[in-house]
Amino acid sequence: MPELPEVEVTRLSFADRIAGARIEGVVVGKPLRWPLGCEAAQLHGQQVLAVRRRGKYLLLDLSDGLLLMHLGMSGSVSFGANLPLAGKHDHFDLVTSLGTLRLHDPRRFGAVVHAAGEAHPAAQKLLGRLGVEPLSEAFDALVFHQWLHARHTAIKPLLLAGQAVVGVGNIYASEALFLAGIRPTTRASQISKPRAARLHHAIQTVLTDAVAKGGSTLRDFSNAAGEAGHFQLEAMVYDRAGLPCRVCAAPIKGIRQGQRSTFYCATCQKP
Ligand SMILES: [Zn+2]
Repeated sequence: MPELPEVEVTRLSFADRIAGARIEGVVVGKPLRWPLGCEAAQLHGQQVLAVRRRGKYLLLDLSDGLLLMHLGMSGSVSFGANLPLAGKHDHFDLVTSLGTLRLHDPRRFGAVVHAAGEAHPAAQKLLGRLGVEPLSEAFDALVFHQWLHARHTAIKPLLLAGQAVVGVGNIYASEALFLAGIRPTTRASQISKPRAARLHHAIQTVLTDAVAKGGSTLRDFSNAAGEAGHFQLEAMVYDRAGLPCRVCAAPIKGIRQGQRSTFYCATCQKP
């Protein structure tokens, strides 16, 4: 599943190239998770001003309103002037004067939704309850600690839930907890202020690092220019059950936590 770094890498791979483009057509394929929410004709002639990201949503600012794009479970985006004819898993084409932006999504959990503005209910329904951005100043170590302190459940599922901080999915939660030396099963309320600060820093480090490396290639991720990422080559614990810890050589443990697979080193990560 594309996580925040993959979405950011996708954004970086076409944002500059599409900025200023004029929309010349929209081709909608099979139904996606949510309907577009406007007539395709309403988009014709509009300009794509910029591409931003909020959580795992790409926000395309148009001259009038915006498009919110989500990659769902299996989506990827390509952008180019000479894309091949749409295949059976290509369900949305935004044809512009600078190239076509295409959503490829075999499982169709992704979506493209139009909203009149970011404050409009159509946008707020998707963005309104997102936690703070992990790579922004709004993500504060002390506030993070206070939030954790009030919660008595295991730390890893809490991170995945995205209420404290958005966009820390399964891979990056496992990696950040390793970096912070915290076992995924540790109760959030038991994490001290210094350990919360370490986790805060680890989350930012892991995500920044993943963006710099082009995102993960897990599940065949590639950016909008068709380039694969390299993060998984260097994962410390994710998907490494039974393999030696890269720090202490103890075998990495693999457990199930709330229907998700979790990986940790029992030596390097303390309860
Ligand atoms: Zn270890």
